[in-house]
Amino acid sequence: MRSYFIETWGCQMNHHDSERLEGQLLRCGLEPAPVVDRADLVLLNTCSVRDRPVRKIASRIGELGRLSPPPLVGVCGCVAEQEGQALLDRSPLVGFVLGPGQIGRLGEALDAVARGSRPLLVGFEADSERDRREVARRSPVRGMITVIEGCDEFCTFCIVPYTRGRERSRPLDEILTEARSIVAAGAREVELLGQTVNSYRCPSTGAGFAGLLDAVAAVDGLDRLRFVTSHPRHFDDQLIDVLARRPSVSRYLHLPVQAGSDRVLRKMHRRYTPGQYQDLVARIRAAVPDINLSTDVIVGFPGETEDDFLATLSLLEQVRFGQVFGFAFSPRPRTPAARYPDQVPEAVRKERLQRLFAVTDRITLELNQALVGTVARVLIDGGSRRDPDVWQGRGEDNRVVNFPRSGGEGVGEVVEVRIVRAAAHSLIGEVVAGRPARLSVRPRA
Ligand code: SF4
Repeated sequence: MRSYFIETWGCQMNHHDSERLEGQLLRCGLEPAPVVDRADLVLLNTCSVRDRPVRKIASRIGELGRLSPPPLVGVCGCVAEQEGQALLDRSPLVGFVLGPGQIGRLGEALDAVARGSRPLLVGFEADSERDRREVARRSPVRGMITVIEGCDEFCTFCIVPYTRGRERSRPLDEILTEARSIVAAGAREVELLGQTVNSYRCPSTGAGFAGLLDAVAAVDGLDRLRFVTSHPRHFDDQLIDVLARRPSVSRYLHLPVQAGSDRVLRKMHRRYTPGQYQDLVARIRAAVPDINLSTDVIVGFPGETEDDFLATLSLLEQVRFGQVFGFAFSPRPRTPAARYPDQVPEAVRKERLQRLFAVTDRITLELNQALVGTVARVLIDGGSRRDPDVWQGRGEDNRVVNFPRSGGEGVGEVVEVRIVRAAAHSLIGEVVAGRPARLSVRPRA
């Protein structure tokens, strides 16, 4: 076996897990295949938060089986944890199954395959966090660091506590070392990851997430620091203080609200009210007035009435998020909400989702239009996929900005870009300063 190809679905955590998988493959002497058809080994790093990816994986395994010769397939990620032995039983093509708590054991799995077995490695035993140093980071611009694994919240719709296990925070000093090495390797931005990143608690010092964010923000040479995903009920004033005080902390915050109806939030087991959420937003905006907020919303949760849905639309109108990730409720196995008797018909879920998008697309565009004429400091990620003469990057508020190349700038540099046009989900601009700035965090008042 000489070459590999990794396909990744789902969240940032999964994308980072793929970097960890790749690091181990490179250490084992394998090389990346340019296309999946030429790979001896294909890893499917899967997500089971929505229903569709689960079905997609079954059909993907079927497609890979039609390649000649078919590759060895390893199923990793949340579907691996959820389906386990069934994946091995369903297809002889699947050589091994590796849950998200076992990512560091890929080399062990490959050794077992070479000896003729089909290992099933799932579960979350304490020593499964190995091989974190072998991360093949894909971006030269930013590096991701998982700071907390798993989730203890048990929202009634969510499968994550079952597929990623209970919360396990990593020691703060280990995270700091990783952040320093990412910056030393040339990255400008670090992103701290966790399903509930702000419930982080250092297992050795007891420091909370505000302390961790403050410590990483002070890393020498770090320009930008992001974190995802925050749970509203763990967002405290110390954290707001770090957001306001540290110029390297991004002026972007993803803060899932899920619903605007108190009744639905209680059934979801979110443990905050719409009023508490809005109060939190007000406190964050008082400290960081130009922060760009994004959120997740589920429509058609069991028992959601038209009035509940209107309460969600009303909250979205009031908060005015820069981006809303809307989903129609999809029952996940093992979760309480899948067994609730008052399921909302699919047609109603779909219709509400369309109405939600009509509202959120309008608000996003209005907020983007208000930025026309302003100057953004854009960290260049690379060329636009649609046009090789156009750079794509992100402003300090994480908005995507596209602008024509002006000649002197390159990937990983920060340039000042005047916004000339707003699109539905991005901004279009032109370089104002002739020279790119190597270090350009904006001093905050
Ligand atoms: S906080 Fe809720 S939605 Fe988020 S991962 Fe945990 S259980 Fe899932």
